[in-house]
Amino acid sequence: MDLEGYKAKTALCCRLLQMESLIEASGHISVRVPGTDQVLIHPMQASRATIGPKDMLVVDLEGKLLEGEVAPPSETHIHVSIYRRRPDVLSVCHSHSHYATVFSMVQRPIIPACNALSPFHEGIPVFPYSGHIDDREKGEGLAQLLGKKRALFIKGHGAVIAGSCLEEVFRGTAWLEKGAQLLWEASQIGEPAPLPREEIDVFLARTWNPRGWRKEWDYYVSLAQQRGITVD
Ligand SMILES: [Zn+2]
Repeated sequence: MDLEGYKAKTALCCRLLQMESLIEASGHISVRVPGTDQVLIHPMQASRATIGPKDMLVVDLEGKLLEGEVAPPSETHIHVSIYRRRPDVLSVCHSHSHYATVFSMVQRPIIPACNALSPFHEGIPVFPYSGHIDDREKGEGLAQLLGKKRALFIKGHGAVIAGSCLEEVFRGTAWLEKGAQLLWEASQIGEPAPLPREEIDVFLARTWNPRGWRKEWDYYVSLAQQRGITVD
């Protein structure tokens, strides 16, 4: 896929995340162009509901603007700090999704008590600062805390999901939100317990791969089409 293709796909991912109330007005999604130090991210100000390929900005691994005329999000440091530390990561989402944020507010860890939380069985650390991750130092601290994990919470603020491609990160963001809601609801009527590790491993081997990520992506693209949202 060329740069224009990545711009179109990242813009579409942004609209899908917004459609599902996962990023709302201020969250963001980025992608690293494979084999380069170029990162595509959308502008800080633009509505996430209408981001298109022409809106996409290109920044380097320090967050410096290489292409585009408007400012990237002040929290671009979240993205580039993770890309600097994790060569395996090609996409990062910073969500402000509802139930994930609920869990970021309390000392109650996410446990893999349902299939949707299986990808996060290694735990989700909580970055203890609730404000904007708007400089290199905070970005580095956050990326260090994330380590090799798939996700992290920012206390009272939102979540960060990292993965090997846009489809994986989209699915991770959607599943974390769905799983956090299920876990919260289950905890109202009982004490949820983690699934056995063998079951988690079998489930992930079956679902957490490009074919599985693509299935979720295609489903939400078709949902967007049904709702009259542009998917080109
Ligand atoms: Zn934020």
